[in-house]
Order: sequence, then structure tokens, then C-alpha cells
Amino acid sequence: MHVDLLITHAVQLLTIPAHDHGPQRGDRLGDLAIIEDGALAVSSGAIVDRGPTVDLAAKVQADQTIDADGRVVMPGFVDPHTHVIFAGDRANEFERRIAGATYMEIMNAGGGIMSTVRATRAANVDELVVQTRARLDRMLQHGTTTVEAKTGYGLDTATELKMLDVIARLDAEHPIDLIPTFLGAHAIPAEYTGREDEYTDLVVSEMLPAIASRILQPASCFVDVFCEDGAFNLEQSRRILARAKELGFGLKIHVDEFEPLGGTRLGVELGAVSVDHVVTTPQDEIELLGRSKTIAVSLPGTPFGLAQRDYTPAKAILAAGGALAIATDLNPGTTWNESMQMIIALACRYLKLTQAQALAAATINAACAIGRGESIGSLEIGKQADVLIMDVRDYRSIGYQYGTNLVRTVIKHGRVVYSKQGANI
Ligand SMILES: [Zn+2]
Repeated sequence: MHVDLLITHAVQLLTIPAHDHGPQRGDRLGDLAIIEDGALAVSSGAIVDRGPTVDLAAKVQADQTIDADGRVVMPGFVDPHTHVIFAGDRANEFERRIAGATYMEIMNAGGGIMSTVRATRAANVDELVVQTRARLDRMLQHGTTTVEAKTGYGLDTATELKMLDVIARLDAEHPIDLIPTFLGAHAIPAEYTGREDEYTDLVVSEMLPAIASRILQPASCFVDVFCEDGAFNLEQSRRILARAKELGFGLKIHVDEFEPLGGTRLGVELGAVSVDHVVTTPQDEIELLGRSKTIAVSLPGTPFGLAQRDYTPAKAILAAGGALAIATDLNPGTTWNESMQMIIALACRYLKLTQAQALAAATINAACAIGRGESIGSLEIGKQADVLIMDVRDYRSIGYQYGTNLVRTVIKHGRVVYSKQGANI
């Protein structure tokens, strides 16, 4: 067999398979299906074979061979929840928070999410592309090969559509694949204070139809709502998501970050692909989630970024048979972190996941959480060749070592798109 690329001598080739074409659930999370001294063959950007190096080397001729030389080889990280598109930063607020200012004090002084909304409204598409591209470059260097990207810093129809344009342009220009999510219901904009239902009407009657008419395949795009005290209540969330479902969009919902409002139950009821945050979720809703197809996306960077104590009850979700994924939640307010390696380190410590469980949550389960489990997230034949060569010789070093970049080489669609300086591949 003749192939474009052959990767040989992975000390551990982590294939991290889908289970029944879906995520790894409950106590089956953490199935890495390791091939020792493994090799991977790639043609036309897809995985065409894999197995022990000795077997593949005997039957495959390759245009290019990369010797992993005893390192770990694994699927690219999938980051299934980000607010990566925004203008400006909020470093000054972080300084004020350290000094003891509360979220409400900062918001009343014109800060918080509305300061990012003002900056994003003022920026044109080119400015947003330049600022976001720098973040995507660093995400790629840290091993992320697919990113879900939300709107939600426009909160008016024109700026929300502008953010979708930015996502489409970066998806076309950048090696990272971007999956779009419309989050017009991220916050109540300042000009609608006290008129939350009117803003909900605007999302339902104007924004959703405008976006549906722009997007060729609504099923490949998600609609999300921030269901939380001070944002959208359960009824407003239901109206928005029900309309989005009618229009053919996939559904996501931010739930139970601070206060449990019943958002997990709503997400399961409406068949959402994922419910995200899932920190203060009551046990009966965890049970419901565990019996559903909806995936819990935990965002441990957020409580860490806010120096809070409570994290997703991952063990309870797994005990209920649920599917768990992890994501950065990258945003300028609560957690500006671009690295899934950092999220794995946090998940091991605060969610009590083993390294194997965290790796599966950051790859195959994360892919399923954005509806892409059939094409990415694992090293299985027929899948897109999104592959990492890690500078470690045991997968258990990932999550254990943290704070430096353990990625040596990133391969996207079968092509080397990043190599650590000094690496010969
Ligand atoms: Zn979020």
C-alpha cells in the first residue's frame, strides 16, 4: 500500500475509540486502546491504517515518514466550548477582583461582559480576525485541532452576524476547524435592562431567523443559551431553544454554573447535544442526564479562573452512566486559557479523573459534544488525520506535568502544521 504519511515508533499510540459510534460513557470512560510501538498511515488527510510499527512498515510505502522515536502519539485535542471571538481584554478587572471587588461592583462600573460587548461591537471583521487568529495560533501549538466558537459579544443582530462571519473566515483561513455556535442569549444587553422578555423576543423573532437564512446547514451549527440567574431564566431559555430546534439547529445550553434553574432537565428534554458547566446540578437531574444522549461538558478552567471551590461532580455523572467531555471555556472575563493540557491537569485534580479519563474527555467525547464524533476525536480508520506527537514517553505524564507545552508536533488533515522549535519533524 502506498500512503502520503507514515508515523512510526509511537511508544504508545492512543487510539481512544468511539463506543457504539458515540462517546465513552460512565465507567467505560478512559478506554485508550493503546497500540504499543504503534504506527499510523495517512492518505489524503485521512487515517488509512494503524497497528504495530513492525506490521505497517512491512506493508506500507510512504512519501513521508515521521519517526516518533518512542514518544506518545494521540488524536488532536477538541475544545468543545469557547468564547474565542472577542475584542480587547479585561486585565484591569482581574486586578480589581484580586483586590476584592465583586462581580456586581465591576459590572456597575461599566465592566464585566458589557465591556467586551462594547469592544466587540466597535471592532470590524478584520480586527476581530487578527485578534482571534493570535489565540487560535497558540491553541494549535498546544495541540487543539478543532474548536467550537460562540458568538455572544454582539447582543444585537448586526454584531452577532459579524461574529459568525469572523468564525467562517477563520475556519477557512486557519488550520484549526471552527464549529459555529450562535449565543445571542449570552447576556441581557445594557440597553434592555429590565426588559429581559423583550430581548428574548428579539433573539427568537429576529436573530434566529436571520441566522437560519445565512447558514446553509443549520444542523452543523449550534444555538446556545446562558441559563442562569441574571441572564436567561428557564422559560426564556426554553423559548429560544425550542425555536432553534424548529429551525433545525443543534442545541447547547449553559447550565448550573452558579444556581440550578432546571437547565439540565430542559437540555435533556429538548435533546441538546450538550449541557455545559454542570456544577450545581441536583442529583435527580444528574440521573436524568446519565440516561440521556446529552453530553455533560465540564469547564474546570472557570472555577479555577474565579478562584472558586466548586467543580463539576464528574464522579456522580459517570456513576449515573453519563458521558463527560471537558473544554477550556476560553473567554476574557473568567478564564483566558487557551490550553486543553491545562484543562486536563485541572480535571485530574478537581474532577478526580484519571489521566486516561481526562484524555478521552478531551478528544473523542469532546468531538461527540460538538456533533463530530464520526469524523474526529480518535485515531480510527477513515477518520480525519488530526494527530499529536507529544514530548512524553508515557501518556500518564499528560495532566501530571503541567504549565509547559508538552506538544512536539501537530498534524492537521494529514499535514504537519506545527513543530516545536528544535524538533526535527
Ligand atoms: Zn461559556
